[in-house]
Amino acid sequence: MTELKNEFSWSKTRDEVFKTCPRQYWFAYYGYWNGWLEDAPERTRQIYILKNLKNRHAWAGEKVHECIQRSLNNIRRGIKVLPVDEIISITLKLMRSEFRSSRARNYLKNPRTCALFEHEYGIEVTNEQWKEMAKNVETCLKNFYASDIYGGIKSHPRDGWLEVEEFSSFRLDNIKINLMIDCAIRKGGNILIYDWKTGKSIPEDLSIQLSCYAFYAMEKWHIPPQALRIIEYNLSFNKVAEFSVTHGEVEDIKGYILGSIKDMQSLLLDPENNIPLDEDRFSKIEDERVSLGCNFRKVCRV
Ligand code: SF4
Repeated sequence: MTELKNEFSWSKTRDEVFKTCPRQYWFAYYGYWNGWLEDAPERTRQIYILKNLKNRHAWAGEKVHECIQRSLNNIRRGIKVLPVDEIISITLKLMRSEFRSSRARNYLKNPRTCALFEHEYGIEVTNEQWKEMAKNVETCLKNFYASDIYGGIKSHPRDGWLEVEEFSSFRLDNIKINLMIDCAIRKGGNILIYDWKTGKSIPEDLSIQLSCYAFYAMEKWHIPPQALRIIEYNLSFNKVAEFSVTHGEVEDIKGYILGSIKDMQSLLLDPENNIPLDEDRFSKIEDERVSLGCNFRKVCRV
């Protein structure tokens, strides 16, 4: 079997991790590598398992995204979508089963199964809090399937559907840039990119995400940034916000991304082969609040 290669690529998430804590970045993008192999060193395997942990909010968001993805793909293939109550019931049943599996720590033997941060780190979560999370999943799904946005996508001509929940990429100065598109459709001369949000909206700088969409749209669909509309749909609050981006903003972000890539690559021993310097060269952050929510606390604070 050909050996997998850890290729360097950039993404908004990677940039956020790098800015949060360089040592966390090392764990998430280098330290875990090959941890899935049978003969992996114990620490590498542990880092790999920790990398796959997600907290309950991220897990809930993932389940909502999966439901929407399945429904939209079914519509695309002419398969009837189940009634929303049935979708909710199936999803919550699946979540209960994943919860039990995570609580029993099955992920230690089989790292591909659900691994919740709360279980690994023994975080106390009351029954009410778990129920609240399940309620949010239900609310998000009810809102989505009753929304005008879903209705509009459903009735949109199939040849105008471009992407549904796909890992996509484009190249910037020959570096692969990864992004995730929840749904994209062509409408007249414009392209609409939908972004489903499932948690409380934290005000954030959207310019990087918007510009990445614009780069991708330019390369893949050959449209200028002004023909792109980004529709953020917060499913928890049933709120829609629309954004656009200008050519100037996209150019500014290009400079930012290239700077971020340079910073990351300055910590490589061999940039050609994406081989990092020693772990110790990736500094640790001295902020207990960040470390408390960090997947790698166990292997870092030793
Ligand atoms: S525990 Fe703290 S210092 Fe260590 S990787 Fe995580 S955030 Fe960084």
